[in-house]
Amino acid sequence: MSALLDLNEFHWLMAIVQSIDVGVVMVDREYRVEIWNSFMENHSGRTPDEVHQQSFFTVFPEVEEEWFRNKLETVALLGTPAFTLWEQRPYLVRFKNYQPITGQEDHMYQNVTLIPLRATNSEVAHICVIIYDVTEVATNKRQLQAANLELKRLSSTDRLTGLSNRGHWEEALRLEYARHQRYRTMAALVMFDIDHFKKVNDTYGHQAGDKVIQGVADLVLAHVRTNDIAGRYGGEEFAVLLPDTDIQGARLFAERLRLAVEAMRVEHEGVVIPVTISLGVADLGQPSSGHEQLIEWTDQALYSSKKGGRNRTSLHQVPA
Ligand code: GH3
Ligand code: MG
Ligand code: MG
Repeated sequence: MSALLDLNEFHWLMAIVQSIDVGVVMVDREYRVEIWNSFMENHSGRTPDEVHQQSFFTVFPEVEEEWFRNKLETVALLGTPAFTLWEQRPYLVRFKNYQPITGQEDHMYQNVTLIPLRATNSEVAHICVIIYDVTEVATNKRQLQAANLELKRLSSTDRLTGLSNRGHWEEALRLEYARHQRYRTMAALVMFDIDHFKKVNDTYGHQAGDKVIQGVADLVLAHVRTNDIAGRYGGEEFAVLLPDTDIQGARLFAERLRLAVEAMRVEHEGVVIPVTISLGVADLGQPSSGHEQLIEWTDQALYSSKKGGRNRTSLHQVPA
């Protein structure tokens, strides 16, 4: 038969299979190992003699048997190759990653190809499992994804305080307002501004001023619930959106925060800097034209607090 290789060619092919940097395993229809190349030997620490005629699932107990059997059966039945990618399944068999970078997985990422091998009677009697080490590609991609996520987080966070920055906070308000329009949900807004902050900067210096801003932001974070969205609205102006809360609930929150700030002790060169805030509160209990109007209402209430003597909370007055 002309298709039969002569003995020399067979040896050459085996030498190639042995030396390529890819895992090659051939199993029969009972999943018993027939061929095991040196890549497999090097990474598993098992010689071809040790695994010969052993079930693939005995050699690799970590392989999910039902899933892999199905996969192999489909390949045999259809007579066409199949693939698995590391994105779907990080690996088929668990091999060590020999160049682990700090914080990286210590296993090898693998792409796998399954090839049906026909016998001369054209039945698929064997299947070849080819394992590619794609650890480098996978690691790079995962690092890139992590970096992008961190970048996104940074671009939505205010550096000094860790609160949402204005852009991100306004986006959250827009979303909450859309939810309100659609489902008639309630929401309240609290905005506040540190009293006589220019004096803090002038008396104690800009760095001390920054420390005060951080101290206030820490108190905000300590007082909000998980669903609330706290943002740094401007220099020493803050805004807290309280979903599913009305003006009275928001007033309680505002007063608690005001008292906590008043009691806060930020020290500068051994001196405690006195800090108070003025707050405004409004909610969506009355018809509004848009999320900007809620900000306007809240800002008007904040202005009343400043005019009324500072260190106080004012509620937006509904016109009679
Ligand atoms: P009022 O009680 O009316 O609010 O008086 P105020 O002095 O606080 O007045 P205003 O709110 O207009 O002052 C804002 C000041 O805050 C002006 C600016 O120098 C200072 N500031 C804004 N951002 C920062 C910051 O990031 N760090 C520091 N240290 N100061 C800031
Ligand atoms: Mg201000
Ligand atoms: Mg101020």
